[in-house]
Amino acid sequence: MEIKVDGLPRRYSDLPWRENPLTVEDYPTPEAGFNQVLLKVLACGVCYTDVDIVEGRVNCKLPVVPGHQIVGRVAEVPPGLGGGVDIGDIVGVAWVGRTCGKCYYCSTSLENLCDSFAATGCQIDGGYAEYTVAYADFVYRIPRGVDYVRIAPLLCAGAVGYRALKLASLEDGMRFGLFGFGASAHIILQIVKKLFPSVEVYVFSRSLEHRKLAEELGADWTGHPSETPHKKLHRAIDFTPVGEITARALELLERGGVLVVNVIRKQTPVNLDYAKHLWLERSIKSVANVARRDVEEVLNIASKYGVETEVQIYDLEEVNRALRDLKSAKVTGSAVLRIS
Ligand SMILES: [Zn+2]
Ligand SMILES: [Zn+2]
Repeated sequence: MEIKVDGLPRRYSDLPWRENPLTVEDYPTPEAGFNQVLLKVLACGVCYTDVDIVEGRVNCKLPVVPGHQIVGRVAEVPPGLGGGVDIGDIVGVAWVGRTCGKCYYCSTSLENLCDSFAATGCQIDGGYAEYTVAYADFVYRIPRGVDYVRIAPLLCAGAVGYRALKLASLEDGMRFGLFGFGASAHIILQIVKKLFPSVEVYVFSRSLEHRKLAEELGADWTGHPSETPHKKLHRAIDFTPVGEITARALELLERGGVLVVNVIRKQTPVNLDYAKHLWLERSIKSVANVARRDVEEVLNIASKYGVETEVQIYDLEEVNRALRDLKSAKVTGSAVLRIS
């Protein structure tokens, strides 16, 4: 059984949200092609990017099986495949599904920027399915016995958030802002508290529930995005799809501050005024995709420091409800499909 986006036009973001945009269909088990392994999917995270995919804001092949935070058991390895992946291994698959391996970006660990970047659950069928295939060079070993449902959100929410954190060049002693407190931010807050113990973390969210979770996880200050803390921020990450929040975050930056925007597409325009938002050496960066190194590093850090992911679990057939909950900010932490 697989869950597919049906043949909807790619640009239908102006249309009202459909209650059940994904259809459940039976398909033959996919066959592992060259350099691929077949995986029995155990769990798959549901990401806000999947909402963007089903609403047509991200260009994917259609129909597509979404899902790019996959934990699976290796069920089939083609003869002669190297790379040390064996039948029975538990592996993770992330958004970076395949890259060319030859270009400037691929040879400098920036394969997230490769022209041939193919995303799992977008250009390549993903993990909202009982079985999927993945390129053997793009899977990550997961220790046996861990809670696979709780590992899944690390593969995108954790990895992309971690890439954003690296781009922010955070240093101990700084004041650090998180705008939006969903799947990614709740992991990054814990990582920051472990790696940079004297950083003060400020969390801005419209959701009381999300602010409460932030406080439980050690945030030093929480508030609504319209609130202004007493001190300005040296670094910040904006996780929201709202254009106005980017401008708001820049207003709250210190001189020389850096804002990293961790979303593919803003749903409302980002309107910036040079004097108000950028003058005095404030800067803004985007974060695109993930490189394999980000995924490996975040999995290691999470295991070393015991980073916990807060999850809301759904069955595979409940994926439309998971997407609706995510879109309406009803998920605290990460939504994850438990598949087998
Ligand atoms: Zn994602
Ligand atoms: Zn490349």
